[in-house]
Amino acid sequence: MNDVSFVGVECENSTAVSPDQEEPPGSSGLLPVLTPSEGIASQNSTATAVSVLDLLRSGAAPTARSKSAQSNSDQNTNTRIDAGHFSGSGSRVENPRTTLFRERFFPDTSDADWDDWRWQSRHRVKTLDQFERMLELSTEERDVLSDGGTLLPTAVTPYYMSLLDPDNPLQALRKTVVPTTREFVRTPGEADDPLGEDGHSPVPGLVHRYPDRVLLLPLDFCSTYCRYCTRSRVVGHGEIQPNVQRLEAIFHYLEETTQVRDVLISGGDPLALSDDKLDWILGRLRAIPHIEFVRIGTKMPAVLPQRITPELCNVLRKYHPLWMSLHFLHPDECTPESKIACARLADTGIPLGSQTVLLKGVNDEVEIMKQLVHKLLLMRVRPYYIYQCDPISGSSHFRTPVSKGLEIIQGLRGHTTGYAVPTYVIDAPGGGGKIPLQPDTVVGRDGDDLLLKNFEGKTFRYPDPI
Ligand code: SF4
Repeated sequence: MNDVSFVGVECENSTAVSPDQEEPPGSSGLLPVLTPSEGIASQNSTATAVSVLDLLRSGAAPTARSKSAQSNSDQNTNTRIDAGHFSGSGSRVENPRTTLFRERFFPDTSDADWDDWRWQSRHRVKTLDQFERMLELSTEERDVLSDGGTLLPTAVTPYYMSLLDPDNPLQALRKTVVPTTREFVRTPGEADDPLGEDGHSPVPGLVHRYPDRVLLLPLDFCSTYCRYCTRSRVVGHGEIQPNVQRLEAIFHYLEETTQVRDVLISGGDPLALSDDKLDWILGRLRAIPHIEFVRIGTKMPAVLPQRITPELCNVLRKYHPLWMSLHFLHPDECTPESKIACARLADTGIPLGSQTVLLKGVNDEVEIMKQLVHKLLLMRVRPYYIYQCDPISGSSHFRTPVSKGLEIIQGLRGHTTGYAVPTYVIDAPGGGGKIPLQPDTVVGRDGDDLLLKNFEGKTFRYPDPI
């Protein structure tokens, strides 16, 4: 397949890049330098002592764009979404917080640019200077942004930046994408590769841990980097490039390994690839007769919903059965924009499940998780897994005790729709696989009766003669 060319895609001959050189694969590689007129507002504009949140709180008179976005947001919260209206023709959808953020920091950016996922990728917020213009940084945030040296690079799409609280470093979404010096703290049991993936990699970028399933990493780029990422050791480092040679080595291994029936394509974020490259990868996998099942893991609907274009959906619909695991963490991510992205994927016939990492101070409360799973169901996404945060190096500030996960499942099971209750799992360190945990419901036995505890803590007998 050396003659395959990919429109708009780098990579074929690209060399590895360092984290701070790392750039979006979908770009031409010629990234425009941010200027006040096309991107982040100038220093002077930040002198205005009114934050986005202040505007939201004060109920300041919205501009025409704010009014339009508010109206669209309300409509799309309560009515069925016309997936064609996200961008392009028809009325646009934009949540009010994003509208206010744009007015302040990207006043000259057109709707067309803002809705263009490549524009978003090119204008990711990555430097101390950029963060400082948009957020009131804490000492812990400023120190790490000025010193660098974290395992994982830092980057946030302008869209996701617009959802952050500029004044509160403890806001849930902000904690997940803005680094702090706590990432330098190593605690016992942590490791750079806690799941032992590197030891199960027969070909670079392929993890073969279970007999019939593999994990395929087409690239190590993500549009936004999650501070708790299990693959911090590789993601954003520029060492896993989507070049044809490496991917052909993977396809060759899969062709030879006939027990593999299930391929998970995951992160880096596969949807950061161009449509052409995804088309090629999915087509190559589908051409292998024993591969029955293909899944894609992505956080795009949460951090860059603009990526879910009708053109992308047209590529994906060619490769059914295709499933997707979406990475959502918190109800604040469930914006009208994300809802449209999920609607487009669901309308393409892709079953959607969510994977949520349990994080201290982010989503470790029953009420927050309940809001999240309810919003996911409304977005046509089935809550699938809650993961205990893996013991990756520098993640102790995110990790909850296991009892917290069990408490959350107890607070959901029986207290809401069964479809809304995910499975709580620990991915066993060292490559042991996912182990589900749930609160005890079998109390014991009394003769031929099994004693069971229901969601209210009441005990019931079930006839179960031995
Ligand atoms: S999107 Fe996934 S792979 Fe990328 S940084 Fe977040 S958790 Fe890691």
